Amino acid sequence: MRILVVGGAGYIGSHMVKRLAQDGHEVVVLDDLSTGHREAARFGELVEGDLGDSALLDRLLGQRRFAAVMHFGAYSQVGESLRRPAAYYRNNVLHTLNLLDAMRAHGVERLVFASTAAIFGEPVYIPMDETHPLLPINPYGRSKRMVEEMLADCEQAYGLQWAALRYFNAAGADPEGDLGEWHDPETHLIPIILQVASGRRPEVQVFGDDYDTPDGTCIRDYVHVTDLCDAHARALDYLRSGRPGRAWNLGNGAGFSVREVIDAARRVTGREIPLRVMPRRSGDPARLVADSAAARQELGWRPRFADLETIITHAWRWEWRMKNGGPPLAKELLGR
Ligand code: UDP
Repeated sequence: MRILVVGGAGYIGSHMVKRLAQDGHEVVVLDDLSTGHREAARFGELVEGDLGDSALLDRLLGQRRFAAVMHFGAYSQVGESLRRPAAYYRNNVLHTLNLLDAMRAHGVERLVFASTAAIFGEPVYIPMDETHPLLPINPYGRSKRMVEEMLADCEQAYGLQWAALRYFNAAGADPEGDLGEWHDPETHLIPIILQVASGRRPEVQVFGDDYDTPDGTCIRDYVHVTDLCDAHARALDYLRSGRPGRAWNLGNGAGFSVREVIDAARRVTGREIPLRVMPRRSGDPARLVADSAAARQELGWRPRFADLETIITHAWRWEWRMKNGGPPLAKELLGR
């Protein structure tokens, strides 16, 4: 199939592009490289641009027939969304509407959408399944909820086939070492811990140790990026079977505290990893753990890299490459 991956130069999108290329699909990446990296998109054909450019979308979808679109092209920082809500609603909602318009105009019927656990807000119960109330507490989560609602409405009115995948804490890196988390500045826990382990940062700042959890630090459900991509591939197959659109939660169903993650990274790396306890970061719930039974049952999804130390091992290999000169070379260049 020919598949358009919006945001295919970013963290999760780039792993998806590699996976689709390995599965034998023709992959076109649309990315404005605002946060993504050209080298990360190398398993597909990169078209530089963004979803705000309706004329570009029209050309792209008019010239070639795409069987499906996967959309990873959103802004994704909770704190930034509080400071710049207009940018988040514009990029995440309005630009997704542009994409939906162009898809409809050119008869592209299938969309797999990258959603988030931030759509739930403060947990009402744990683990969180798909029927958990959607009460996001920041513009980022609200922008994703709006898009999920738009997708359901477009299904009713225009027959859009859609799937939304709500990630808990995406983590890890390509097991073959070609890709990994590459944010600038980095805000996520595991890459930050590993930058401390490799000597690129002096210490890990632990945002709060007075939460209502056994060791006082926040508990999260870390899921390997390769497993997330597998769920997307399965969601696409699900859509091809013509079943109704829906959202699935993706996590391992096991929570680890910030201190437990640091301890696991000490075991994996053999480094000391100094930490400093800081005040809480605003908007962090104490505990987020997914119930992914629906994805397991309906998509046949089985995370292969559910073990936290495996996730950290892959991320550690990537951190080592980043420390030693940046973008790695693929063993074999797939794609064009
Ligand atoms: N965290 C931390 N120090 C950091 C980065 C993150 O203590 O430098 C904590 C954060 O407060 C949260 C957890 O680690 O409880 C995971 O944060 P991350 O930003 O990786 O993902 P999020 O849960 O916000 O999606």
